[in-house]
Amino acid sequence: MKKHANIPIFVVHMGCPNQCVFCNQRLISGTSSFSAGSVRQQIEQAVETLAGSGRRAEIAFFGGSFTGIERPLMRELLDTAQEYVDRGVVQGIRMSTRSDYIDEEILSILSRYTVSAVELGIQSMSDDVLRITKRGHTVEDTYRACRLLREAEIPLVGQMMIGLPGASPEDEAHCAQKIADMGACAYRVYPTIVFHGTELAEMYERGEYRPLSVEEAVARMSAVMEILEEKDVYCLRAGLCESDNLHDPDSFCAGPNHPAIGELARGNLMRRYMERACEAEMTKGTALQGERVTFFVPVGKASAAAGQHRGNLLYLRAKYGIKSVKIIEKPEQIGYNIKIDVCPLHERRGGEIPCV
Ligand code: SF4
Repeated sequence: MKKHANIPIFVVHMGCPNQCVFCNQRLISGTSSFSAGSVRQQIEQAVETLAGSGRRAEIAFFGGSFTGIERPLMRELLDTAQEYVDRGVVQGIRMSTRSDYIDEEILSILSRYTVSAVELGIQSMSDDVLRITKRGHTVEDTYRACRLLREAEIPLVGQMMIGLPGASPEDEAHCAQKIADMGACAYRVYPTIVFHGTELAEMYERGEYRPLSVEEAVARMSAVMEILEEKDVYCLRAGLCESDNLHDPDSFCAGPNHPAIGELARGNLMRRYMERACEAEMTKGTALQGERVTFFVPVGKASAAAGQHRGNLLYLRAKYGIKSVKIIEKPEQIGYNIKIDVCPLHERRGGEIPCV
């Protein structure tokens, strides 16, 4: 299957007069300025890198509120991107923006271009959390934006955050549920990180905000991922990118900063499904205590199923008194569908994680 690649163009806080308490877009976009003239050059470079890879590519305007940019510049950027679509070099254009920057006028502009998705920074579906984080829009704005995108048949990607000030795990579960209900085809979930120079950093210094630990963030990310995966909403990203200045002490202040936090969350999610499979087996009357148990998981999921340092396998052994656990990838297992077998399998094959 051909993989998808974004050609990211960071518009760096352009089009956004807001200052959400957690945002320092100039830092997290990894660049400090934006030059419209450099866009063509950035696209050319990326296209050259992707040449021959067979990957489907889209030009992605990220890092600000694209649909809030002044119209002449926004059209100029879209015209440039569309040229590459028309030449067949890339397949579409996507952009990130805010819920209150989607309206009929914007959609009539976007309808003239090959827009493959709008990534909406939803962040929370609690008006209290939106107020505390100074998002500058309401839950109602998000409902309206999603409805307009749906009517315009533009695919929606929902972006949400966990660990925002004032947000509970229940608020986050509610947000994930709403993203699915509003018809998102995909999602991104980010843990809240405190960056220097933000209002959140001041709240943290004053003791008004406690960032999540890595363990808390992993558990809360996997909880929302479970809701979204159950509704077949595809995960585009869990966790911030390596390029998000998380290693720069001048930028990173506090929070669940782990380079593999998305992988940890996926592992945690797999563990939940493996536990469910164990419980279902025991409900059928199968004893797991002292047995050798094999989990059949989808192709590519063995590593997440094993967990970091095989933590999931050790956890399951301890919880159910299982003698040994083995993981085997099977093409017939799809998504997070897991089959369990208590018969021992001895021979080693590809895609297999041996017993612990
Ligand atoms: S809307 Fe986005 S770009 Fe604007 S301040 Fe908030 S997080 Fe930053």
